[in-house]
Amino acid sequence: MSRRRQIYEGKAKVLFEGPEPGTIVQYFKDDATAYNKKKTGTITGKGVLNNRISEYLMTGLADMGIPTHFVRRLNMREQLVKEVEIIPVEVIARNVAAGSMAKRLGISEGSALARSIVEWCYKSDELDDPIVSEEHITAFGWATPQELDEMMSMTLRINDFLSGLFRGIGIRLVDFKIEFGRYYFNDEERIILADEISPDSCRLWDLKTGKKLDKDRFRRDMGDVAEAYQEVAQRLGILPESGPRDLQGPKAMQ
Ligand code: UDP
Repeated sequence: MSRRRQIYEGKAKVLFEGPEPGTIVQYFKDDATAYNKKKTGTITGKGVLNNRISEYLMTGLADMGIPTHFVRRLNMREQLVKEVEIIPVEVIARNVAAGSMAKRLGISEGSALARSIVEWCYKSDELDDPIVSEEHITAFGWATPQELDEMMSMTLRINDFLSGLFRGIGIRLVDFKIEFGRYYFNDEERIILADEISPDSCRLWDLKTGKKLDKDRFRRDMGDVAEAYQEVAQRLGILPESGPRDLQGPKAMQ
C-alpha cells in the first residue's frame, strides 16, 4: 500500500506519516462499514471517488474562507493533509429529516425542516457515537465554548455552500457529518475542517426523482452503490479522466 509509517487505520481510510512534520497522508479505501461495523463490505472504486470528491468540496470551501486540513491530492487514493488533533465530536447538519433523526423522533423521512438543525455526537465506537448536547461537550471538556461557537458558525456556512453547490447539479443535500480538528501553527491554535466530505458522509438525493446517491444505498442494500458515487462525481464534473473503468486505479496503488 505504501512505504510510509502507518499512524492509524479507520473504517474507510488509513493515515500515514506525511513527508514533512505536521502533515499526514490520507489513503481512501474501498471498504465500507455501517451501523457501527455491524455491516461491512467493499464498494469497488469508492476510495478513488471519495478522494476526488472530498478534494473538490474542501477546495471550494477553502476558496470561500473556511479553513480546512486539505493540502493537495497526491494520487488516485491519497491526499496530503495538515495534522490536527481531532475534536471528539461529530457535527451533523440536517436540512431534511432522514436516518437516525427521523427514526428517533418518529418523523417521516423526506420531510423538509423549517430550519437547518445542527446535532452533536460524541465520537466513541464503544458507545455508538451517542447524540450529546452542547452542555455535555463543554462540561466534559471535549471542546471549549469558543470552539463550539466556531464549529457551529463554520458548519452553517458549510451547509449553505454545499447545499447551493449540490442544488446546482440537481442534488438535494439532505444531511451530512463533518469533523473539526485543532491545528497548531506558530504557537497559535485554530479550528479547521478535517476528515472528509463525500457520499460516505452526506445524504444526497436527486432533486427530481429522490434517487439516493450516497451510502444509504450500501446501508439499505439498494445496489448500484459505486454507480451512485460515480454519478455524484460525474455531475460535479470531476470523474477521473479515463472514466469509470479506471476507478480501481493502477494495481500498485490498491
Ligand atoms: N454520518 C456519518 N458517520 C457517522 C454517522 C453519520 O458520516 O458515523 C452521516 C450520515 O451519512 C448522514 C448524516 O451523517 O449523512 C446523518 O446521519 P444519521 O445521524 O442519520 O445516522 P445514520 O442514519 O447514518 O445512522
